[in-house]
Amino acid sequence: MTSNPESRVIEDVACTVCGCVCDDLRMHVQDSNLVWAERACPLAEPWFAALKTKRVTSPTIRDKPVSLEDALATAAARLAAARNPLIYGLANSSTPGQRAACRLADTLGATIDTTASRCHAPSIMALQQVGESTCSLGEVRHRADLVIYWGSNPVRSHPRHMERYTWEPSGMFLPPEGGGRTLAVIDVKPTETAELADLYLQVEKGQDFEVAWALRSLVLGKPLPQHPYGGVSWRELVELAERMKSCQCGIIFFGLGLARGPLGHHHVEAVLRLVTDLNAHTRFHAKRMRIPGDVAGADSVLCWQTGYPFSVNLQRGYPRYNPGEYSADDILRREEADVCLLVGTEGVAGLSAEAKKHLSSIPVICLEAAHFSGYSQAEIRIPTDVYGVHRTGTAYRMDEVPIPLRSFLPSEHPSDAEILADLERRIRAMRASLTEVTRSSSVPAQG
Ligand code: SF4
Repeated sequence: MTSNPESRVIEDVACTVCGCVCDDLRMHVQDSNLVWAERACPLAEPWFAALKTKRVTSPTIRDKPVSLEDALATAAARLAAARNPLIYGLANSSTPGQRAACRLADTLGATIDTTASRCHAPSIMALQQVGESTCSLGEVRHRADLVIYWGSNPVRSHPRHMERYTWEPSGMFLPPEGGGRTLAVIDVKPTETAELADLYLQVEKGQDFEVAWALRSLVLGKPLPQHPYGGVSWRELVELAERMKSCQCGIIFFGLGLARGPLGHHHVEAVLRLVTDLNAHTRFHAKRMRIPGDVAGADSVLCWQTGYPFSVNLQRGYPRYNPGEYSADDILRREEADVCLLVGTEGVAGLSAEAKKHLSSIPVICLEAAHFSGYSQAEIRIPTDVYGVHRTGTAYRMDEVPIPLRSFLPSEHPSDAEILADLERRIRAMRASLTEVTRSSSVPAQG
């Protein structure tokens, strides 16, 4: 950090815009304003630029500015009166906010769900079925000489992923000449990443399972009739299987192109089983390409707090996990939720039309970073500080490595953790006073 207090450069700042959580950004700050986010990619640049154009400056109730006290009191009253409250979001929060949300859900007997239920939920279910051969991104950078992107286009979705981990860096345990890596892409259509690849396999939409299963047969040395599988020719499959078996260390990064769709969990399961088979020949791993900055952290915190990563119901006083029954989208579509607390609003866009329709008909309390457009139909909107900008915290990178978040701008609002803890205190106090009133009214009068 430079010594001039008005103009500072803060090194090694982590970006939480996508699951890469790049922690090498340099922030140029002048008079408490960010003037340049050095090393921010095209995805992150507008996000940091928006910090200057704050949209929400004070809490609002039905679009009218109110004091924080009024907003919290009204929000607590709404939540305390709810029969089936839903807490949803958490993917752009941080460990303290996610932990406070779990505590509040427990106190309320609410359902708590993260944006993973509309993204990588099928992958998580597949992992629970067959396990995962996993590694850190550092290991990929230094050891992987075969990198496969399956149903993922990182050039667009994670612009610095290839620069930092797979394509550009020279690995510590790789031959120096040309980086010593092979890049393969499996996808339903040519992408920017496929243009850079040494090998591109175009699979028919929804046929990833056939391709993964055919590769399993080849890797296991079983006879495979010579015809195309899922639109991929037998010869291409043989070539890829040979490269997979003979590499020093391989990795499949799979994205929503593989995991989404009605049979997404079967596609992912097939790929994970393929990776397990490959470990009989060489070292091989599989990793999800997580999209939001701390969705992996939301999985982790929910797991250690409730035992389950998403779609958890606490109504009976103990956690119940059932994706499809306790997923936010399903609860909203079935019109079961009567109040919704959004911790970050980025998940709303991914909800189904029916879920959005019900959401617009119930009281919504929205904790949102001040510079996001947020969910404009929310009854109560409370701006929050941003972790990694105004507040310190922790974000989990896509490989579940926790990355410390630094703060480089002064705090302007409470954090979501502080608001959630305050709401919980108020609800406990309301319940305690209600119990007291009930008890005193049931004591017989002394004559
Ligand atoms: S790749 Fe992701 S984490 Fe890295 S700078 Fe871009 S948006 Fe931020």
